[in-house]
Amino acid sequence: MPELPEVETTCRALAPYLQGQTLQHVAIRAPKLRQPTPAAHLLEGRQVLTLTRRAKYILAGLDDAHTLLIHLGMSGRFSVFPHQGHAHTPTQLTKYPHPPLAKHDHAIFTTPKGELRFNDPRRFGLLLRIPSPELPNHPLLVNLGPEPLEETFTGAVLHAALRGRSAPIKPTLMDNRVVVGVGNIYASESLFAAKLHPSLPAGKLTKTQCTTLAQCIKDVLNKALHTGGSTLRDFRHPTGEAGHFQDEFNVYDRAGEPCHICGTKILQATQAQRSTFWCSVCQSKRRKT
Ligand SMILES: [Zn+2]
Repeated sequence: MPELPEVETTCRALAPYLQGQTLQHVAIRAPKLRQPTPAAHLLEGRQVLTLTRRAKYILAGLDDAHTLLIHLGMSGRFSVFPHQGHAHTPTQLTKYPHPPLAKHDHAIFTTPKGELRFNDPRRFGLLLRIPSPELPNHPLLVNLGPEPLEETFTGAVLHAALRGRSAPIKPTLMDNRVVVGVGNIYASESLFAAKLHPSLPAGKLTKTQCTTLAQCIKDVLNKALHTGGSTLRDFRHPTGEAGHFQDEFNVYDRAGEPCHICGTKILQATQAQRSTFWCSVCQSKRRKT
């Protein structure tokens, strides 16, 4: 499942093709993904004024006071086919030697810069057209917590968000109301970096531990961003390259393998229906930090 670094990578890769560009041609081939998709004629001819990310949503602000919200879901990804510097009209574009459409190419956006195809075999993705003024209060966005990569996300903010929570820290970190975009991989990796046991009660973390953890979350996400996100199952870059962050995992998906720090075998357990990985020595519950 694409996580925050992959969505940020996608957003940055799409920007040259979308930001400031007019959607010359839009084809919507699936009337419904997780929710009904917008009709193509409502998007066609619109200019994309802004392209931003909030949590795992890509937001394309259009010039008709609407926003196209894109979520990659479980298996969504974009393929990008640049126009290679030619002048184009929609008629000319059809003659381009782009590969034939794939079975799960559900939406195709053509701008003067290229063709973007949204492919989603499992159809858990979202394409929604939302009036821009309603965006902050939209049910998908209204309860989202802070962005981990922004400066405003600090140990103090995390400490306050965890106060009174008795659930284990690992699934709590994955709660979008606490902090957005820390999915299963990055929760395990951040806790390893912070030397915190994944079962510690979230509300019992000290301010110092929260400061360390907030910094580790930033470091782990930034590292993933610089390596282009992880490639797991369905995720590929919009340009077709694979990410390499999975080569850097310390604990995730490494059950039974030796810890990179101490050599102890990495353990695996299920928390809130998700796999958690940790080192019982580096992340000892009794460890003093
Ligand atoms: Zn270890």
